[in-house]
Amino acid sequence: MAEQPELTIQGWGPTDPGHIPADDGDLGDTVPKVARRYLTKELGWTPRSTPPVPVADIRVAPSRLSDEARARLVDLVGEENVRTDRESRLRRAGGKSYLDLLRRREGDASDAPDAVVLPGTTDETASLLSACGELGIVVVPFGGGTSVVGGLAGVDPDDRPSICLDLSRMASVQSVDVPSSLVTVGPGMRGPALEEALGKQGLTFGHLPQSWEFATVGGYAATRSAGQNSTGVGRFDDLVAGLTLATPSGVLEVGHPPASAAGPDLLGLALGSEGTLGVITELRLRVRPKPTACVYEGWSFRSWAGGLAALQQLARHDLLPDIVRLSDPDETRANLLMATGTGARALRGTLRTRGHGEGCLLVLGWEGLPSLVGARRKAAASVLRDAAAIRLGRRVGESWKSHRFAGPYLRDKLLDVGLLVETLETAATWTALPTVYDTVRRAIREALTRNGRRPLVMSHVSHGYPTGASLYVTVLADRDDELPIQQWLTAKRAATDALLASGGTLTHHHAVGADHRPWMEREVGPLGVEVLRAVKERLDPQNICNPGVLLPE
Ligand SMILES: Cc1cc2nc3c(=O)[nH]c(=O)nc-3n(C[C@H](O)[C@H](O)[C@H](O)COP(=O)(O)OP(=O)(O)OC[C@H]3O[C@@H](n4cnc5c(N)ncnc54)[C@H](O)[C@@H]3O)c2cc1C
Repeated sequence: MAEQPELTIQGWGPTDPGHIPADDGDLGDTVPKVARRYLTKELGWTPRSTPPVPVADIRVAPSRLSDEARARLVDLVGEENVRTDRESRLRRAGGKSYLDLLRRREGDASDAPDAVVLPGTTDETASLLSACGELGIVVVPFGGGTSVVGGLAGVDPDDRPSICLDLSRMASVQSVDVPSSLVTVGPGMRGPALEEALGKQGLTFGHLPQSWEFATVGGYAATRSAGQNSTGVGRFDDLVAGLTLATPSGVLEVGHPPASAAGPDLLGLALGSEGTLGVITELRLRVRPKPTACVYEGWSFRSWAGGLAALQQLARHDLLPDIVRLSDPDETRANLLMATGTGARALRGTLRTRGHGEGCLLVLGWEGLPSLVGARRKAAASVLRDAAAIRLGRRVGESWKSHRFAGPYLRDKLLDVGLLVETLETAATWTALPTVYDTVRRAIREALTRNGRRPLVMSHVSHGYPTGASLYVTVLADRDDELPIQQWLTAKRAATDALLASGGTLTHHHAVGADHRPWMEREVGPLGVEVLRAVKERLDPQNICNPGVLLPE
């Protein structure tokens, strides 16, 4: 199969200039002037040039892999699949969180693995794990490298040498069972390649996180990802029918489609295991026919509370669309200001005239058979009108769709001009959600308001469920050039404490990683942590599988 494009080291996007982003990618050369003025005023921000150091100046420590260990790994997968050169190691250093990017931009890649090893099969992976157990080498599985929670930090309490187990050689479609709507794929498969392969048979997988261009199906399973369409098609967990997990103690096959009552579901243990139990080497995924009707549309509410209440009504009547994104007033205002062109100007005018100038934008997406899409939209429209929403039409929805993967490209531009840009997420019941929203915003504002600087805290509901919804928060602030890492850590700590105290979950879809592990006990309780530890001890007795994530120290 064709080589997949590599991600740049210090930001988002491909190193291959011929790669075409999945959206139109038209972000303009700079942040629009009006948005720049707005951010300067709102944040107390001084626009300035803060470029990354040249890639050649990034510091990577010498590899600690011994000759003996290297030879053993080469015996298992071949010389070309054991790499200790600077470039290979640097490319697999950490993930793509704000803190990862800051470190790489400042020239620090001290978290680079000691070697990159590329297995080609489940058997090779199992042999590598067993050899690494004997050699005392830490193994960090690596999919697309898009973790935003320190999932690839490779931290080891015993400071042993570590290898990155890059799964990009295991990235093919192995079989498609059309009558059963199942596809079997390797863990290194990315969304675009999967959709291309399925599209030839009139099928789609439909998992579309914002990291879709680069993240892999193995990574989605290991982190329990959610995509933009997850309200309709389900979270990634819902789409996995079964998988193969290679562990240092042997290979596990879990999941039995279509359904089974044979005891507790071991598949649930593998999903979200973040490489701590072993390596996912094959996945059986649920697919569906490509939708023949796709409608994206915009609505507006006068208030956040009104928007939440309307979504709750849709959820209660089983009328939630496939894509649902309700932006709060801060995010709505910023999005409208960032948008350029006559359409955006006209929309701002319409909202002002109709008294929704400080309102909340709702984007809905409907996909499926035309008759069903029509019927669902009609029923939902009646609920939304009863909630005093105004319909803005398809242009707003189509505009969201064409920019759906653009955010991370814009983030790099904002990092270049002295801004802090980071996101966090949670989920809560419909009852708790308004409190979670208020307390998290307050905590971030308090933590980042200093010396004339104020953050912009923008939120949206990104996934709806019958029982509640997820909340996604984007934070912009003037960066503290002296202590940028400390600045974000302080805010993140305050936000996480606040969301847990008010009824939110530690994470709805980004996973635990190294960043959230100090709070894991608060999420699952001491006994819950003990159960997870016991499973790990059985499957990974030498604690070589990604020991720095998920479980508290
Ligand atoms: C700009 C941006 C936007 C994002 N948007 C979303 C979004 O919309 N929704 C969402 O859910 N997430 C999102 N994320 C987070 C990230 O993309 C997801 O966590 C994704 O699932 C990670 O996949 P990956 O292949 O890149 O995994 P990696 O980052 O390579 O790994 C993530 C974790 O999983 C482990 N792992 C990876 N592959 C395997 C395997 N085969 N077996 C066992 N363990 C493995 C790794 O060791 C690591 O702990 C976003 C990230 C970025 C940078």
